[in-house]
Amino acid sequence: MLIEIERGRNQTLKQIRDLAARFGNQIEITEGTGVFDTIHVIGDTRGFSAREDYVRSLPGVRAFFHAASGYANIARTIRGKDGVAQRRDRRIVEVPGLDGKIRRIGSGKHMFIVGPDSPQTLEQTLAIARMARDVGERFGVLDRMILRGGAFKPRTRPNSWRGLGMKGIAMLDAAREESGIPYATEIMDLNRVEEIGTHADMLQIGTRNSQNFDLLESVGRFGKPVILKRGFGNEVEEWFYAAEYVANQGNLNIVLCERGMKTLFTKGGYCRNQPDLNAITFARKQTILPVIFDPSHVAGDFRIVAENLMASVAHMVDGTITETLHDESFRQEQLCDAAQALTMEAYASIVEAVLTYEEKVLPLVRKAVGDSSNGR
Ligand code: PEP
Ligand code: MN
Repeated sequence: MLIEIERGRNQTLKQIRDLAARFGNQIEITEGTGVFDTIHVIGDTRGFSAREDYVRSLPGVRAFFHAASGYANIARTIRGKDGVAQRRDRRIVEVPGLDGKIRRIGSGKHMFIVGPDSPQTLEQTLAIARMARDVGERFGVLDRMILRGGAFKPRTRPNSWRGLGMKGIAMLDAAREESGIPYATEIMDLNRVEEIGTHADMLQIGTRNSQNFDLLESVGRFGKPVILKRGFGNEVEEWFYAAEYVANQGNLNIVLCERGMKTLFTKGGYCRNQPDLNAITFARKQTILPVIFDPSHVAGDFRIVAENLMASVAHMVDGTITETLHDESFRQEQLCDAAQALTMEAYASIVEAVLTYEEKVLPLVRKAVGDSSNGR
């Protein structure tokens, strides 16, 4: 645990030293280059860290960082009993399909998660699934395709359309049956995890529920793979702790998803949520979990989805989750997120672009950044 403190705050320093001594922790002080120094609190810091608010309230304290062991189950670097830091391999989350192919998220190859915002008609849902299969076959990436679709929709306004519920789940089941491709769907109610989770191949926790701790624990206990979106106002660490809630229950099949944040600037009309692309790199460095990106909710407009998606590829993301239409004529029928849906035809071009990038450009980028681990 690290605390940044203004130099010369001797009274505060004494209070921190006393607190550390009370819990049997040592402290070490590193002089910073500016007017702040860093205090390292060493040892089993559970008792100390429970007093975080008190420490933060002391005069001169600027920041309080937790060691990665605060999310020990998912942390890339952990401290063993001997106190020596160890680096863990990043994890691959496997999602088996009815077609016998296993989707491996985090394997170093981009995972293409695609589908409607929400299943609205059987025809629409099946058409997208067939098109996804066709794209997968055409480019030899069927084992890298997963379907998406929210049957239970978290809506900002209570009178907006909120999805078809279990009828929508039945449509997604039919799409999987038809295409052989597994699907991910959002879960909002902790009391329905089993009911919905028995159908779905992956459960999605949306941005609005990303700190619904009871829900996180409930999907953690259930055990199926989870897509955990980052809360639209959450720091990266808060996102990692949310994942730790799932992991604490014994489920490490978690895929982190960056989907942009609400900021002062999202009111400008040029993006719906501001993407934090460096969070992808950071999450891959700090945790063992695969990280995907949602260009649709970042963009809010289908005309800028492609470049956002490609930007995340440049950040070596493990996959993307994109909302699509089976036909342009359906846009006016779509009851949620119509403006940001890409046609499947446009999506096919993106798949080709990603594969070309993976083949031609990514090896050079990896060389430039010194990553010899093939994206892992
Ligand atoms: C969605 O995927 O349709 C969705 C509601 O996403 P988010 O939770 O990121 O807003
Ligand atoms: Mn949506």
